[in-house]
Amino acid sequence: MSKRLVLLGAPGSGKGTQGALLMERLGIPQVSTGDLLRAAVAAGSELGLKAKAAMDAGELVADEVVIGMIRERLNEPDAANGYILDGFPRSRPQAEALDELLIALGKPLDRVVHLEADEEEIVKRLLERGRADDTEETIRNRMKVFRDQTHPLLKYYEERDLLVTVKGVGDIEDIYGRIEQAVNA
Ligand code: AMP
Repeated sequence: MSKRLVLLGAPGSGKGTQGALLMERLGIPQVSTGDLLRAAVAAGSELGLKAKAAMDAGELVADEVVIGMIRERLNEPDAANGYILDGFPRSRPQAEALDELLIALGKPLDRVVHLEADEEEIVKRLLERGRADDTEETIRNRMKVFRDQTHPLLKYYEERDLLVTVKGVGDIEDIYGRIEQAVNA
């Protein structure tokens, strides 16, 4: 199975859940910028303090902050055999920075998996999840940010022949099966 993967999808589309399953079953790390940022906030680091306001509002944290985090993370030894990027890239500058980084390493992406779920299902899932930034207002803003800044990346990756789209609705194992098929095709 392809080993350098991106999971792309709206908030609540199941990226985190499927990323964790891929990590467990492929034996490669799930790299979630959301998790890295939440850890920085919890640790009270300078980076965390910078990121917190944007996260609380459902806005994107500055590109240079997340790009720096990813650059460091992908240089860790456990990422040498592949990884699942979950929640990164989320904007065109992030996608371009990732391309540059991977070209420099001579290890381009294998696949970008778009997890497609409808908005009603997503809002339901997010309200059930109940994370600190899962208030209805923040959810609405995260959806808008996804539509405006992240959705254009589908075209970006389609043009590079990397995109596969998978229905993210239904049973978790069924969705996993679809991802497995898509990345092996
Ligand atoms: P997530 O856990 O992926 O839903 O991310 C939670 C929050 O962290 C987002 O609403 C953003 O504020 C921030 N965040 C996570 N990943 C990124 C990213 N790639 N670029 C900018 N902000 C991000």
